[in-house]
Amino acid sequence: DTTHGPILYVENISVSFDGFKALNNLDLTIDEGELRCIIGPNGAGKTTMMDVITGKTKPDTGSIWFGQRIDLLKRSEHQIARGGIGRKFQKPTVFEALSVFENLELATASKKNVWYTLNNDLNGEQRDRIDEVLRQTGLTEHYHQEAGALSHGQKQWLEIGMLLVQNPRVLLVDEPVAGMTGEEVEKTAELLTSLAGRHSVIVVEHDMAFVRSIARKVTVLHQGSVLAEGSMDQVQNNPRVIEVYLGE
Ligand code: ADP
Repeated sequence: DTTHGPILYVENISVSFDGFKALNNLDLTIDEGELRCIIGPNGAGKTTMMDVITGKTKPDTGSIWFGQRIDLLKRSEHQIARGGIGRKFQKPTVFEALSVFENLELATASKKNVWYTLNNDLNGEQRDRIDEVLRQTGLTEHYHQEAGALSHGQKQWLEIGMLLVQNPRVLLVDEPVAGMTGEEVEKTAELLTSLAGRHSVIVVEHDMAFVRSIARKVTVLHQGSVLAEGSMDQVQNNPRVIEVYLGE
């Protein structure tokens, strides 16, 4: 097993919108290097959970610790992103007019000024990391291609690569296989499982076959709290989970 101690502690988090509790005393602990899938019916609070972890939404109550020492609720969304928690939104947002390599170059330098970054050389370590990420994401042969010309799957992998060059400790990935072909889904499963160990990967996904193919541990959210947690078999045989999904 490649997991170590906890890297992320979400404790007793509640978030209300106009009196409606999108998260209701949510507790979640993610271990270093683990691959966790989060599932749950529409409105369960999955997006709000990601918003809270990444600092986009501040909760009404609770605490979130990153490692032993970092209180995430005291950090801005920008600080959290720079500090090692990467988030991949559902829709790919790559720079279409730039090449695959330039996209990774920009993400590496994280400079606000695009033209400055593109006109200045990366150091050897940064270049090596980009090469490694190109291999991991299967984009080595496409490095000079315009990102806009990539397939949907390749754009998604490139965007994951843009997070990877920043060496995140935790990677949050929202519905990675939506709209993908069967072959792309398989490649995405390989990519995400290969990242675990070195990164903690949290995947929010509706596609149950995909979740089954990658997950060791699954958390089921319902009405803003954890309804069940365990292996895919354990949660799928849980009577409360069956009831929630049949009622959807
Ligand atoms: P999921 O991602 O699991 O579908 P969400 O986190 O998007 O669930 O939403 C949880 C609940 O909170 C839903 O009922 C949703 O309508 C509500 N909600 C989410 N964001 C807002 C918001 N900004 N304002 C009002 N209600 C919201």
